[in-house]
Amino acid sequence: MEKNSNEVSDTKSEVRVRFAPSPTGFIHIGSLRTALFNLLFARHYGGKNILRIEDTDQSRKVEGAVENLIKNLSLLDINFDEGPLQGGDKGPYYQSERLDIYKKYCDELIAKGAAYYAFDTPEELDEMRKLQQLEGRQTMYDRRARDLSEEEVQENIKSGKPYVIRLKVPLNEEVKFDDLIKGTIKIETNNIDDQILLKSDGFPTYHLANVVDDHLMNITHIIRGEEWVTSVPKHILLYKALGWEVPEMAHVPLILNKDKTKLSKRQGDVAVEDYLRKGYLKEALINFMALLGWNPGEGEEQEFFSMDELIKRFTIEKVQSSGAVFNIDKLNWMNNAYIKNYDLDKLTELSLPYFENTGIDTNDIETTKKILSAIRVYLNKLDEIPDQLKIFTQKEIALENENLKEILEAETSKTVFKALIEKFGAIDSLNPENYKTILSEVQKETGIKGKQLFKPLRIALTGSENGPELPLIAEIFGKDKVIDLIKKWS
Ligand code: GLU
Repeated sequence: MEKNSNEVSDTKSEVRVRFAPSPTGFIHIGSLRTALFNLLFARHYGGKNILRIEDTDQSRKVEGAVENLIKNLSLLDINFDEGPLQGGDKGPYYQSERLDIYKKYCDELIAKGAAYYAFDTPEELDEMRKLQQLEGRQTMYDRRARDLSEEEVQENIKSGKPYVIRLKVPLNEEVKFDDLIKGTIKIETNNIDDQILLKSDGFPTYHLANVVDDHLMNITHIIRGEEWVTSVPKHILLYKALGWEVPEMAHVPLILNKDKTKLSKRQGDVAVEDYLRKGYLKEALINFMALLGWNPGEGEEQEFFSMDELIKRFTIEKVQSSGAVFNIDKLNWMNNAYIKNYDLDKLTELSLPYFENTGIDTNDIETTKKILSAIRVYLNKLDEIPDQLKIFTQKEIALENENLKEILEAETSKTVFKALIEKFGAIDSLNPENYKTILSEVQKETGIKGKQLFKPLRIALTGSENGPELPLIAEIFGKDKVIDLIKKWS
């Protein structure tokens, strides 16, 4: 397969791309990646990003799904220039409001001999398929209704027989197209099904509506998941039959589980909402998602990209054609890196919901900030906050294991504790600076240093050998609590 690198030809005046979800109630992580790539591409080329709601399957309709979708995308800074909210002169942007348009083009296709009526009952189709299976043949419509005479068709319609309209795939030809990611793809038309275009309930299928809308909305580039690539030959036949130019296409690789199977609900969360709820920061999610299939180029080590940088650097040429593995450990690592370096005020604001019911008084915003700055290095995501708060909220210090008692009861520990009680007692309030000064004084005066100096203090204050920086903990606890906790062991 040769790769077509000429992704934006000079003749196209304005890049117009679309994200075209069927609202199912949640955004799949794969759809987020598609929406992101469309946004990056549109912004990179100064074009338009369009949201079109593909809601012609009424049985899958979910109340509030579109609002939810738009809300979550905008939380991630994925915004549109045209769509249900913004409107635009190519609307309506809900396919369910465009039914007349599809009907009109269906009629045109029939008039041109590129589509036909089919009156087969579900039972007849079932029988046909069973026979094909029995004979080991490919199951596809056997094109039987192509041969109905005009009179038969009119009679059937008159007598009220339910019908669908099917695409009349030309036989013995080859359909060929150049995908910007997958290269040239060819298929014999004899292997293409006479796809239903209009269903018996008068609603169009995805194929018809998608092609008509991409054309009428002047879409220049179709960027979507690889699972749609098999539909392209049918679409190309439709474009041709209607005398329309075929947009450029780019089918982005599947997102895979670690075991290389297609990312599915069963193997973990696939709903974007779940990631937001768990406290993945939007910057981290976007950065991570962008790298699922796109990379800045060979030999490039950079892994952290802001949205602006992604927009600058994103091209379809750098999208790989093979599947992209979704590595949750990498997402956690990246989110942790963003949390560690985030503006503390902003992080505090985002973190407040996770402090609820933990016993920390978030009205005391200064203390809340100090706590957060002490624990943030340990957070892969914000919903881990309550766990990390335990050292600040526990009433009794419970030792992580019994062996720690030995450390607390060592002679050197007692000496350190005595000195600390005296020195902490003599100051007004504890802060990281005077804490450090006092510890180095104690070190000098007692000759006890390193682990023997710090470990017992940490264990006395937190019950554990590991955790946030001690000067920060001491400041947050305050002098009285620190002295009380040490006294127990002195
Ligand atoms: N409605 C399809 C979906 O739910 C859109 C596919 C396309 O972009 O053509 O993903």
